Amino acid sequence: MKLDVDVLRYLSKDDFRVLTAVEMGMRNHEIVPSELIDRIASLKHGGTYKVLKNLLKHKLLHHDSSKYDGFRLTYLGYDFLAIKTLVNRGVFTAIGRQIGVGKESDIFEVAKEDGTVLAMKLHRLGRVSFRAVKSKRDYLKHRSSYNWLYLSRLAALKEFAFMKALEEHGFPVPLAVDSNRHCVVMSLIQGYPLVQVKELQNPDTVFDTIIGLVVRLAEHGLIHCDFNEFNIMIDDDEKVTMIDFPQMVSVSHHNAQMYFDRDVECIFKFFSKRFNLSFEENAGHSDDSKVDSEEVGRPSFADIKKVTGFLDKELSASGFTRKDQDDIERFTGDDVEKDLDSDDTESADEHIEKDEGHFEEEGNPVEQGETSKEDTEMKQDVVSENEGLNDLGTVPEEDRQTEHENEPELTKRLNKQRRRAIQAVQGGRKNFTSRNSYKDKGGRSSHNSKIQKQLGNW
Ligand code: ADP
Ligand code: MG
Repeated sequence: MKLDVDVLRYLSKDDFRVLTAVEMGMRNHEIVPSELIDRIASLKHGGTYKVLKNLLKHKLLHHDSSKYDGFRLTYLGYDFLAIKTLVNRGVFTAIGRQIGVGKESDIFEVAKEDGTVLAMKLHRLGRVSFRAVKSKRDYLKHRSSYNWLYLSRLAALKEFAFMKALEEHGFPVPLAVDSNRHCVVMSLIQGYPLVQVKELQNPDTVFDTIIGLVVRLAEHGLIHCDFNEFNIMIDDDEKVTMIDFPQMVSVSHHNAQMYFDRDVECIFKFFSKRFNLSFEENAGHSDDSKVDSEEVGRPSFADIKKVTGFLDKELSASGFTRKDQDDIERFTGDDVEKDLDSDDTESADEHIEKDEGHFEEEGNPVEQGETSKEDTEMKQDVVSENEGLNDLGTVPEEDRQTEHENEPELTKRLNKQRRRAIQAVQGGRKNFTSRNSYKDKGGRSSHNSKIQKQLGNW
């Protein structure tokens, strides 16, 4: 998906008013009836319909007339709302090039007025695992669509909350700057994902640091759950920064031990393959993995003195509640991925492309972020519309599913994730700006000048 910031510059106040009206309508409509949008936006002389046409042209909205005439936001529309809010808050004034494409996110450089460059992560849940979730029939019994924007907003909220809390506890993470809707703004890490690093001066030291982080996280009651070479950044001084937190869980999670072991295993495997660190030499019982793991000194989850409650206490202070955690775990949990992996006949790339297509048809945004004074006025107009309805994105209790996972499935899933990411890094079918581009283009500093897309006055 292209984030065409030129469009952003030319959108008028009325355009944003109607876009916001659709977002509000989506609180209780998957497809917001045109008349309702018109009522919420309350533009003079039927102006709403002209604006809707313009927003549709720029793909900020999706039109659906299957049941009645209505609209919903696309991810692009949601992007624009988040970006506008952040620009209005003075968080940044320009958007630069795309620096990363994750499994379920797009990352861009953004610049502040004084030229400081930051990283903006736009969460895109549903991009990869859409079809998998589609197979959750229990859930679908009650709904015909998915609240992807709501879930992406939760992922951003969670990531922001974790980043802040981890930073306060001295973990090497990007500095959390601000967050709105499905978007997180953070400091730009001057480094490369470990997956791109072919050589290290001190692989042993880096390895110890990384394993030390997994252990220290557990001591703080947390497990990263996606701790691998794609989510660890290394700079030229071999300083480590960890990124990507939406999937983190508490050490009291029913699968905590397995998640912890998996994170550790990932690091051991990667360092053994890429940097030829030898963990086997003392082992001698190569067919007994339990003995192996003890002899090579893998940290044992049971032996770690863990503090629990970190998630509940510190994170809820950032507005991320236990309910949010439950919601997001249910949808990003491994039973979702398991479905995805069960279809081995297609490549990961094919999944991505197809599922993106699906999303465009069926994504369903739900929650809104910050509201302006104007938004509040609109809200008052439609308060009766919202009365008595469920909170946004809540899933009926009977829809909740229990997760069942086992290790072989997870290993499979992880391998698939890795292959997918490697394909992305190597170019794949999509023409994204490569994660290698820092190295390809000779350092980051030159990129500051490339941020040309000034967003003007909104
Ligand atoms: P996902 O959740 O989709 O995997 P990540 O947070 O892992 O997204 O980001 C994807 C990629 O974007 C990373 O591998 C990295 O190359 C780049 N990236 C993410 N955050 C930053 C940052 N703060 N500074 C520099 N690059 C980043
Ligand atoms: Mg990642």
